[in-house]
Amino acid sequence: KTRPKKQSFFENGLFYIFSYIAETIKKKSKCNRIIIITDTPSDLSEDYTEALFNLVSKIKTFPTFIDIIRVSEKNERFFKDDVKLNILASDTKGGIFYISDKKDFIPTIKKLVKNKQIVSTCENQNDRIKIKKEDYYFYSHLAKSLKPAPPNDVGLKCHFCQEEICPCCADVNDKLLFCEECGTTFHKCCITNYTIQHNIGIPHIFRCPKCQILLKINQDDIVSPYDEKIESAEKYIETEEIQLKEESITAS
Ligand SMILES: [Zn+2]
Ligand SMILES: [Zn+2]
Ligand SMILES: [Zn+2]
Repeated sequence: KTRPKKQSFFENGLFYIFSYIAETIKKKSKCNRIIIITDTPSDLSEDYTEALFNLVSKIKTFPTFIDIIRVSEKNERFFKDDVKLNILASDTKGGIFYISDKKDFIPTIKKLVKNKQIVSTCENQNDRIKIKKEDYYFYSHLAKSLKPAPPNDVGLKCHFCQEEICPCCADVNDKLLFCEECGTTFHKCCITNYTIQHNIGIPHIFRCPKCQILLKINQDDIVSPYDEKIESAEKYIETEEIQLKEESITAS
């Protein structure tokens, strides 16, 4: 009742939630759901909106779903921030629900909560989302590198092969690396193979199989078994971009 009704705070709220998600995606793999309840159209500047969409594009990769409930006492259905809300909701596989009658509020919320079942199946989606170059740096910065295991720690075994000496290369120089968060150890070969199959959509970034924290290996260690021409993750992304450009030229 004391909240000012002239100004919308929904962007501020979203920025707060997004920074929370960015903080926790480092540690946990999960689906995020945001339900915005708004009764005041927002009218912040274009710059603000652009920053917001930019964040949304990063956060939605770790499935984040935004649903919006617009509450309005009058039977209005058009608001000056409709476009913005529409983009937010459709970009994150959510929806907008208009409510003019108080008694519709609870059923709408209940419906949204039930929807969660459908939503959570998206977690196992196999079609990888293509990650943009700028987002690539964002995640690369978030992920921690593996550290070499201390040399005097004898008897340590690799999480994957359960051996001290790497069975892939049988090279004593393939010293164990470890995840600083949980202490799990891996051979370079073993973790490279794992990363090729279980990366987050960026070739050299993956989650620790034990503690789920975001980790990375040297991007040049990744050589795709399917394409010999691709030598590094950096080149992989450039190749993708060139292909896209070529496609759009042919299309025009
Ligand atoms: Zn191993
Ligand atoms: Zn090896
Ligand atoms: Zn770990």
